[in-house]
Amino acid sequence: MRVVVVGAGLAGCLFAMLLAKRGARVTLFERNPDPRPPEGRAGSSSSINLTLVERGFAALAAAGLRDQVRAISVPVNGRCIHVDRHDQEYQPYGNPGEALRSVSRATLNKLLLDAAARTPGVELRFGQRCIELDVEQGRLVFESAANGTRYAHTADLIVGADGARSTVRLALQRRHGVNFSQLYSRHTNKELRIPAEYARRAGLANDALHVWPRGDLMLLGFPNVDGDITCTLQLPSTDSPTSFAAIRTERGLLRLFEEHFADALPLIPDLVRDFFDHPEIPMVTIRCEPWSCARVTLIGDAAHAVWPAYGQGANAAFETCTILDACLARNGSDLRKALAEYEQLRRPDTNAIADLSERHFTELRSHLRDPRFLLRKRIERRVRSLFPEQRSLYERIAFTVTPYAEAIRQDVQFRRVVDAICASDELCADVEGAALERFIRAHFATASEEHASA
Ligand SMILES: Cc1cc2nc3c(=O)[nH]c(=O)nc-3n(C[C@H](O)[C@H](O)[C@H](O)COP(=O)(O)OP(=O)(O)OC[C@H]3O[C@@H](n4cnc5c(N)ncnc54)[C@H](O)[C@@H]3O)c2cc1C
Repeated sequence: MRVVVVGAGLAGCLFAMLLAKRGARVTLFERNPDPRPPEGRAGSSSSINLTLVERGFAALAAAGLRDQVRAISVPVNGRCIHVDRHDQEYQPYGNPGEALRSVSRATLNKLLLDAAARTPGVELRFGQRCIELDVEQGRLVFESAANGTRYAHTADLIVGADGARSTVRLALQRRHGVNFSQLYSRHTNKELRIPAEYARRAGLANDALHVWPRGDLMLLGFPNVDGDITCTLQLPSTDSPTSFAAIRTERGLLRLFEEHFADALPLIPDLVRDFFDHPEIPMVTIRCEPWSCARVTLIGDAAHAVWPAYGQGANAAFETCTILDACLARNGSDLRKALAEYEQLRRPDTNAIADLSERHFTELRSHLRDPRFLLRKRIERRVRSLFPEQRSLYERIAFTVTPYAEAIRQDVQFRRVVDAICASDELCADVEGAALERFIRAHFATASEEHASA
């Protein structure tokens, strides 16, 4: 099978490798130049960070990349909430030994490009932008960045891995019967940096995600292998005195930080330069149905971009690659059947994580400093300490490979007991107490009896 993958981002690289390992000839077209520095030259390190979780690693393992990606990432055991200038609250993410892994998106992409370039059957072409696609004929037109030359290319299978603003998807969207929606968040992001020595001096843990939640504003800090902390500043894009659009001067920026992030201000020496140099990064949910027409299909953000509040976009993109690959493997040369099965298997889960990511976005920004929310997290930890197999929804998403929609279904019991405790002042009064333990044990005993009789 001759395959064209448009977009050599995270999903495109992994999918090209998986297909080539099963004997396909894959050409990976990327509009940007090769980001990997020539031998002996240092590359640019500017990039947002991602957190990868078990389902992302399970997909990377299918291409033999689990250990390599672990080596360029650091464990994130919990989140450290900088409630205010003096008060911090630490919340572990899972059971001991369970951690998210923080990685620079650019470094991860370069690792995947290296691995794809080494995979027999994969050909990489940089500086080639897809500008047109005839879906019926399976004919793409590319434009070369070097000289503007346009040329056509055909393939047996065309995979759009060209991100949230996908050109391949645009060609599908023009067809009758293809439904599409996008939802931009009011907020956008900018990347800032806390250098390693500043983080060390301030005693910022290198195994935690740092969060400065300030209602409508938020600063997040992701640890790196070299000790630096990559920050994402999240503000409304417009329509607010604290929006990116409203902050136009150095004075305005410093005033914003003095008022809302005074404890973080001395940690970011290049704040002014980075703020005004770095682009705003939007967050968008993409839904498109169907993902496939004739011999064309979509993966990753092109098919199902989600807001990053749950940290799942790349993890979901990797997981999607393995699911599509398995469908193609199972159905041999019957492409139509393979693509139909892919949609049927995967869409309920990507819809589920899209909904969840939008809901969790509000929780992260608005509730993290709310004492009731912090109490709820302590109660969740108490439940888990008594019944380690009982997990919050966040943990099911992060530390298992349970499909997203199924993880939501399984959350019912856990949510019920936590809701019941939160509704009782008496039980909440002593989260470590014996009365709470009795209540939790009784709840799960009844639940398992109900389950057995059902
Ligand atoms: C602020 C922020 C934080 C995030 N945090 C997390 C996180 O913690 N965890 C997580 O799992 N995910 C996170 N994500 C999401 C994650 O970055 C994306 O889901 C992931 O990058 C999707 O990979 P992709 O390969 O589908 O798309 P992309 O990474 O966007 O790659 C698409 C590629 O296609 C190329 N391309 C585009 N158009 C064309 C064209 N016409 N022709 C040729 N090439 C083209 C692009 O240059 C690019 O290389 C975050 C996203 C944002 C914005």
